Amino acid sequence: MDYDPVRAEDPELGEILTKELNRQRDSLQMIASENHVSQTVLKAQGSVMANKYAEGLPGTRWYGGCEYADELEELAIDRAKELWGAEHVNIQPHSGTQANEAVYLAALDPGDKILALDQNQGAHSSHGHQAYSAGQFYEVEQYGIDVDTGHVDYEGLREHAEAFEPDLIISGYSMHPHIVDWERVQDIAEDVDAYHLADIAHINGLVAGGVHPNPVGIADFVTGSTHKTIRAGRGGIIMCDEEHASDVDSAVSPGSQGGPHMHCIAGKAAGFKEALSPEFEEYAQQVVDNAQAFSDRLQEQGISVFSGGTEVHMVLVDLEETHPDLSGLDAEEIFEDANIVLNAQRVPGESNPDTWNPQGIRFGTPALTTRGFDEEDLRAVADLVVRVLDAPDDESVRESVREEVQVLCDENPLYEDLL
Ligand SMILES: *Cc1c(COP(=O)(O)O)cnc(C)c1O
Repeated sequence: MDYDPVRAEDPELGEILTKELNRQRDSLQMIASENHVSQTVLKAQGSVMANKYAEGLPGTRWYGGCEYADELEELAIDRAKELWGAEHVNIQPHSGTQANEAVYLAALDPGDKILALDQNQGAHSSHGHQAYSAGQFYEVEQYGIDVDTGHVDYEGLREHAEAFEPDLIISGYSMHPHIVDWERVQDIAEDVDAYHLADIAHINGLVAGGVHPNPVGIADFVTGSTHKTIRAGRGGIIMCDEEHASDVDSAVSPGSQGGPHMHCIAGKAAGFKEALSPEFEEYAQQVVDNAQAFSDRLQEQGISVFSGGTEVHMVLVDLEETHPDLSGLDAEEIFEDANIVLNAQRVPGESNPDTWNPQGIRFGTPALTTRGFDEEDLRAVADLVVRVLDAPDDESVRESVREEVQVLCDENPLYEDLL
């Protein structure tokens, strides 16, 4: 596939797509929630399934002509069941946020209580931030991270749950460099008679690849995005036991969405097939090995890494002590100028009151690992990061870093056949 038809018919749009392709090729994508999907997934997402209305479920659609949409959706569901061992899968959520909102609709009544991780300590905003519907329709309280160890404060969670008596406890996070103890959260949820939602948006690829424990079969509901470590293109997914199947299905549609994005479901099917291969296990392991090599090298050079390292795919650098004058947003901008793309992130426990300009920066290895980076490459990237941090005001340092980034990118080419 290439973008030629678009460039020929619509040069203005074609140019934008080409610039984005080259940006992804020639810079280091280290946003922990991003990845590069295969050309198979791209092609599936760009297929004629984009034209099809298929509201309803396979076999019970509101529209005619759904024979192949049915086959597709069943294929995607079967592959998801095989990947994560779920009894029931709804593959229609447009994104991870929609998946969470559908679970709230399925499991809760307005005014019910949600206990989620502190928004400033790694929760996703869809876990009850006031700007999201969950924050407005439900009563939300927050548990915390033990900032010394970086792990969830499970004892604190238990005490909070016993006092608050929530209807739903949410585990699974956007910024958490540790393995989550699903059973421990489930025990707490059962003891206070709450449902447990495990949101594995970030880590479902690590779970599928066998390098993170699986909450499916433990938590009542498991949700995720499909474009992060699982590398199956944009979208969301919900998994649960049969007992919740019909509530979940009707909460997704018509409860909170219209017609499913069948082209995205085609992307999910394609990505799930790739994730079922033995190579995907190697990929998942390499993602974690790369994150650890990167984090070790940063720390060897005096950079402060939150909780001293990582067990997953993300590394949170705390700038407070080493770079008190450099805010997370400034760092994000400076790194982008050096062709290293990452995001500013709040560090659990940081006292800075400006939540929009935190003192941390979050790095992730899923995208670089996809394009072939190994531990040695990640140590080289860590050295570049240190050079930028050592001279944040020096434009010439960034220029030489850009040149070395280009060498690393050329050694690990991306989408070689795309024009
Ligand atoms: C990324 C993420 C989501 C969903 O994000 P979408 O952009 O809506 O797919 C949900 N939960 C967590 C923990 C996430 O990290």
